[in-house]
Amino acid sequence: MTDLPIIRHWINGAEDDSAARTQPVYDPATGEVIAAVALGGPDAVARAVSVAQAAQKDWGVASLARRTQVMFAFRQLLVEHAEEIAEVISAQHGKTVPDALGEIARGRETVEFACGIAQASRGEFSANASTGVDVHSSRYPLGVVAGITPFNFPAMVPLWMHPIAIATGNAFILKPSERDPGASNLVARLYQEAGLPDGIFQVVHGGKDAVDALLTHPDIAAVSFVGSTPIARYIQRTAIEHGKRVQALGGANNHAVVMPDADIAFAAGQIAAGSFGSAGERCMAVPVAVAVGAAAEPLVAALRAEAEKITVGPGNRVGTDMGPVITPQARERVIEFITEAVDGGAEAVVDGRGLVVPGHEKGFFVGPSVLRKVRPTMRAYCDEVFGPMCVVMEVDTLEEALDLVNSSPYGNGAAIFTSTGEAARTFAENVQAGMVGVNVPIPVPVGYYSFGGWKDSLFGDHHAHGPEGVRFYTRNKVITTRWPHVEQHQDASMHFPGSN
Ligand code: NAD
Repeated sequence: MTDLPIIRHWINGAEDDSAARTQPVYDPATGEVIAAVALGGPDAVARAVSVAQAAQKDWGVASLARRTQVMFAFRQLLVEHAEEIAEVISAQHGKTVPDALGEIARGRETVEFACGIAQASRGEFSANASTGVDVHSSRYPLGVVAGITPFNFPAMVPLWMHPIAIATGNAFILKPSERDPGASNLVARLYQEAGLPDGIFQVVHGGKDAVDALLTHPDIAAVSFVGSTPIARYIQRTAIEHGKRVQALGGANNHAVVMPDADIAFAAGQIAAGSFGSAGERCMAVPVAVAVGAAAEPLVAALRAEAEKITVGPGNRVGTDMGPVITPQARERVIEFITEAVDGGAEAVVDGRGLVVPGHEKGFFVGPSVLRKVRPTMRAYCDEVFGPMCVVMEVDTLEEALDLVNSSPYGNGAAIFTSTGEAARTFAENVQAGMVGVNVPIPVPVGYYSFGGWKDSLFGDHHAHGPEGVRFYTRNKVITTRWPHVEQHQDASMHFPGSN
């Protein structure tokens, strides 16, 4: 790997020379190694934390005006460099360039929210809480905080975290996914160009060693994690054991319920986009459609038509609708799930297992698939597939649909397609999920709301970004003040004081 570009840690405003250990980064569309990424551990983390601590002392007391100016400048640079970042994402992740531009635009919403941090982090004030006594509250940064992020949104998910952490006065250390780490270093350069002091945004690359070093470092106050459920559980437990505040967003298995009164063509188009967009590798993907009663036959037919018109190819080729999955193992997993289901009696309405993209025979491609007659115990239904697959489950009533959705251990997103307000309301009120769509298949909240699931999709109290992000990255202080006139002086009471 000697001639390959090395994606290095970004520490103290520069690329770090030490890359003693590296691992390959692939182009999933060709199967070729295109770069190497440094693998950090306790040393790299210790260096980053020590720089962050020193830098945060000033940044934590920098005026809101200054922090806001940096955010505005960063936002502008993100707009100007979106294409460049999207191309790096497409090359390392495999998603199409327009899809990568979409994730950058959605991530930018958090920067825009952070541009209003003066408003979003305002405290409270009560005059005369007791006679001549005022009370106010203010929120303060935690210090040094870390973010550990997954491969599927190499720009957007970190963007859920760092703009708010930084705007509220913290120093942020990002440990991006080792599979597509390139975008993070570009973002680091943009922050520097925007005027952010060195050490406030740093990147330590790597896998478990880097993560464990972050989780156990005594000077990291909080950890935000997004990734799979087993790792989210581990992160929450370990971070708590080491005295840290933690929010850990996990996996998902989102269902979209289709009522017989829905516009079926519209629903199928939306669900197909949710199932196959980004090759199904979205935490808000829609791998399960639940057809209620008479919706089943037309829905299956419409999903078949949608799946069959998808153009699969490399993400940087104009006209590609869907790229490869991230690794050969991810591809095998999808194929295995389909095979197991079909062997057990399911019907592959559209079967993507055999897909080959000419000229890209070594790429990690698997075609869109639609399955029906899948039993709830089959992995194709009950596991997170994280590939381009849509399983159609069939039930008779909305109540049965709700029971099915709510039986999932996950509770990230859920959607209903209907033209009836009553059905929509019953669903929204009773479904156990953190984000609900009504005729919206991927109900990702806008940046000034917060993002998060229920049950095994989120461990911790706070959802990501928006107002919950501000609360997560700050702590509260309540200040009670009296400026007594001389004539108001009185002996301090030995009793616990009341208010009067
Ligand atoms: P992952 O859990 O394998 O990895 C996430 C991060 O954890 C990476 O930075 C990785 O380096 C690190 N990691 C992996 N194994 C580890 C270990 N044993 N110990 C310590 N750290 C470890 O997830 P992924 O495959 O990169 O991403 C896909 C998963 O992320 C899916 O399950 C998807 O649903 C989930 N996801 C969830 C959301 C959400 O908002 N809930 C958003 C995006 C992705």
